Amino acid sequence: MELSFSAEDEAFRAEVRQWLSENLVGAFAEAGAIGGSGREHEGHEIRHEWEKKLGAAGWTCLGWPKEFGGRGATLNQQVIFNEEYVRANAPVRVGHIGEGLIGPTLIAYGTPEQHERFLPPIVRGEELWCQGYSEPNAGSDLANVQTRAVLDGDRWIINGQKVWTSLAVQADWCFAVVRTDPAGSKHGGLSFLLVPMDQPGVDIRPIIQVTGTSEFNEVFFTDAETDASNILGAPGQGWEVANALLGFERGVATLAQQIQFEREYATVLRLARDHGRTNEPLMRQRLAQSWIGLKLLRFNALRTLTNMGDGAPGPEASISKLAWATWHQRLGELAMDVQGVSSLLGSAAPYELSGEQALFLFTRSDTIYGGSNEIQRNIIGERALGLPREPKPR
Ligand SMILES: Cc1cc2nc3c(=O)[nH]c(=O)nc-3n(C[C@H](O)[C@H](O)[C@H](O)COP(=O)(O)OP(=O)(O)OC[C@H]3O[C@@H](n4cnc5c(N)ncnc54)[C@H](O)[C@@H]3O)c2cc1C
Repeated sequence: MELSFSAEDEAFRAEVRQWLSENLVGAFAEAGAIGGSGREHEGHEIRHEWEKKLGAAGWTCLGWPKEFGGRGATLNQQVIFNEEYVRANAPVRVGHIGEGLIGPTLIAYGTPEQHERFLPPIVRGEELWCQGYSEPNAGSDLANVQTRAVLDGDRWIINGQKVWTSLAVQADWCFAVVRTDPAGSKHGGLSFLLVPMDQPGVDIRPIIQVTGTSEFNEVFFTDAETDASNILGAPGQGWEVANALLGFERGVATLAQQIQFEREYATVLRLARDHGRTNEPLMRQRLAQSWIGLKLLRFNALRTLTNMGDGAPGPEASISKLAWATWHQRLGELAMDVQGVSSLLGSAAPYELSGEQALFLFTRSDTIYGGSNEIQRNIIGERALGLPREPKPR
């Protein structure tokens, strides 16, 4: 892992910095870093416009190979872009599910026709995606998916319910794990479909969260349709494709996510100073510990990315997920504690959560989504340590 930046890297940094200073102006600059944890609903339209502007200038999908519309950026260049992005206080990206999750999975498993259809709109920041994995009885036990899809001529007909589908309201497409062979094995009967959201058979019902906002939703499919060609991998290969995508979710995506973590840590540190807490020994310990944790997350993410090369990350991706989720949840607690009892107060009527209150409440979910902490420990135990497989209930 190379942590120093070459002259070429620094030239790239200057290019990023210049583009941001020339383009992050007007309404985009006024919007600032909106859309962080617990505030994903904020400023969607302006953030989407910003995403398209980034895309038009070639600043999305930096790490994708050039032949798929990416920039073929090195790891160092991706780190630099992220650093400059934070420094510029730019809006939180809306295209991360496309760029970080389904995009790399399409590159790995898609046909040339699928590449041509789906990758360019992600690169251009035009089409947004959501992830249709979880169901009421299929969360950690994802292979228990019951949503059915049946091939009828040149269409897949889909019936069932997904839940906790983040950003479904804004999404144009959903990648869904569905059961296409009910007689097949639990894992072998699954397929991975790409489903358009704007159709009568798709009913999206937002779920109001503890933050008062609705980042995630229930999604009901009632005779929803997608073209027969919109299957990623072969019928029955859904489990493999779904897991490859989770590898990307737990690996590469963490680098971009750290943009936001660094911003949040800076705010917590400022609040600690504003509230005169930086002379208190225990508070200083917690602030220092949190900063150390942030650095460790960065080094671990870089190591994971370096090791994985062009492939998907291995079980070390689970270490990343476990580490960042736990760290971020502690940061949410610290964000409240540095403000003392005033952290419990609302700013003004009508009552709205402050950024730190939203952060604290949202981070309770970090150790659940993308695979809970317990599930990550199971993966590490079995795949990295070679422990016996966890006993399954009869
Ligand atoms: C903010 C947020 C956003 C989300 N976004 C999406 C999304 O966009 N798309 C999507 O498909 N899903 C999404 N999810 C759903 C998420 O993936 C699931 O919540 C998660 O997989 C856990 O599943 P579950 O909620 O059904 O809990 P369960 O699987 O029922 O687990 C309940 C508890 O039991 C523990 N547990 C379960 N099995 C085991 C085991 N074998 N060993 C030890 N402990 C175990 C879990 O760790 C957990 O503590 C989101 C969730 C949240 C909170």
